[in-house]
Amino acid sequence: MNNSQISVKINRLASMMSLLEENPFKIRSFEKAARIVRDHDEDMGVLVDEDRLKDVPGIGPKLAYVIMYFAKAGTVGMEKELEAQLPEGLTDLLDLPGLGMKKVQLLWKKFDITSVEALKLACEADALTAMKGFGPKLQLKLLDAITFQTKHARDFYLDTALSVAQTWIEKLTALQSISRIEPTGTLRRGDKLIQSVELLVLANSSELINELNDKLDCSVSDSHPLIIKDISGMPVHLWVSARESFNAQQLIRTGGEVYAQQLQKKYGTEAEASIQTLTQAGDASLSTEQTLCKSIGIQWIEPELRDVYATFPEDLELVAQGDIKGVFHAHSTWSDGRNSLEEMAEAARIIGYQYLGISEHSQAAYYANGLKPDRVKAQWDLIDQLNDAFTDFHIFKGIEADILSDGSLDYDEELLSGFDFVIASIHSHFQLDPVKQTERIVRAMQSPFTTMLGHPTGRMLMARPGYNPDMPTIIDVAAENDKLIEINTTPKRLDLDWQHLKYAREKGVKISINPDAHSLKGLDSIALGVRMARKGGFTSGEVINAKGVDEMKKYLQTRRAS
Ligand SMILES: [Zn+2]
Ligand SMILES: [Zn+2]
Repeated sequence: MNNSQISVKINRLASMMSLLEENPFKIRSFEKAARIVRDHDEDMGVLVDEDRLKDVPGIGPKLAYVIMYFAKAGTVGMEKELEAQLPEGLTDLLDLPGLGMKKVQLLWKKFDITSVEALKLACEADALTAMKGFGPKLQLKLLDAITFQTKHARDFYLDTALSVAQTWIEKLTALQSISRIEPTGTLRRGDKLIQSVELLVLANSSELINELNDKLDCSVSDSHPLIIKDISGMPVHLWVSARESFNAQQLIRTGGEVYAQQLQKKYGTEAEASIQTLTQAGDASLSTEQTLCKSIGIQWIEPELRDVYATFPEDLELVAQGDIKGVFHAHSTWSDGRNSLEEMAEAARIIGYQYLGISEHSQAAYYANGLKPDRVKAQWDLIDQLNDAFTDFHIFKGIEADILSDGSLDYDEELLSGFDFVIASIHSHFQLDPVKQTERIVRAMQSPFTTMLGHPTGRMLMARPGYNPDMPTIIDVAAENDKLIEINTTPKRLDLDWQHLKYAREKGVKISINPDAHSLKGLDSIALGVRMARKGGFTSGEVINAKGVDEMKKYLQTRRAS
């Protein structure tokens, strides 16, 4: 399990103890440990292996034991003991908006509602409105949230899928029965949510089953695909293939709606069988997916493109991780980040970036320690000092300015004109109707001070749908006003989605791949955003932070309104 998964698990232990009204000090120490694990820069699994868990401040021997079990086995005895004392599914209720510990206890003890399913039935029967402490508004909100959650019941975040895939590819590579492994499916296409890790393996099936059971303790049975359950709960599917049909399998199993349609058109519903027959003829010219595509008369394109495109200009090369020269959108302890500005800059420099665009929260975001004008100026002074000392790095002065309810930007014009760049973001009034919300964003995009739009739709994957603005209109306005749009690479956001990126690219809108980092570790999520950008067909020339530092200075200088 990775750190964020372990953190979720520890928080769940704390919740179960709260429901059982155990010692509040103990509960708080677990909640604190969950935060420490979430924010820690090194993987807990590595710390366990190297016996360094005890060096982490705030983690005592008991919690170290819990973390070790979660990291290595995905569960711990204490989890089972707590679960045994509570109705199954009760803790799931805590994930619903508007339901805190008190309300969940009330539902459980007074109304005998102990699962999401039971709560859904109660809402549908209009039973919650009669209960004290609840009401029609909360009932409606809960029903919406339950419907949304049910839709995502089998989904996992892309970063989880990537780490599960990496773990299993490493383990499987060590097996003798496997001579080749390739990812396929949504993982290879780099989508934002993944239901299962699909791996194509070149192997002898019965030998593989034996090795999986004997060496890796997987308890798999003979099925197609072979199904392994990762400790995170994510299924890993192994599609066993013979050498002759490997490339055909890779092509078919990678899929992608638009790309697969052309195969369907050519071969009808028998596409899979027809391509298999072709490859089984053993023609050496079909030895890669590329040559196979050529022989069946379709253009080979990058897997990420296959949801959206059937063909793509051959001379265009999609942006890659190595093209990213610097990052915008990072928070430090000046607002709600967990590391100092100096630490964030140093971490970005060590990754190999040439610059960091720091962007704290603005004053309207008081809950996130947003900066009042005097603190903005104090930060500028510090940035000037740091920049004077750097020889190979630069910090750009930025801000994540709240878009106020009328679409104006937080701060007056004089202060706004002092920033190198301004990210305009919505952090309040999520409930405005979509037309008003769109007008509000459009107004912010038209401000001469706005450089780019932050997390454009506000969606949180698997948690909330966002504020539903009319994205095509906003993209048009971005194009007309020469503004950038961000791909926020936080695993839970990945906003703007590839579904809108194709249109943005067609309109000539450039994007900025932004980590919205609140810690050193947050800088790593850029890789996920690069995948989104690739899905939208973006080349490095169309991604603003693929520019080197000198070019970036000029770019921002010419755009600065005064
Ligand atoms: Zn934000
Ligand atoms: Zn932010």
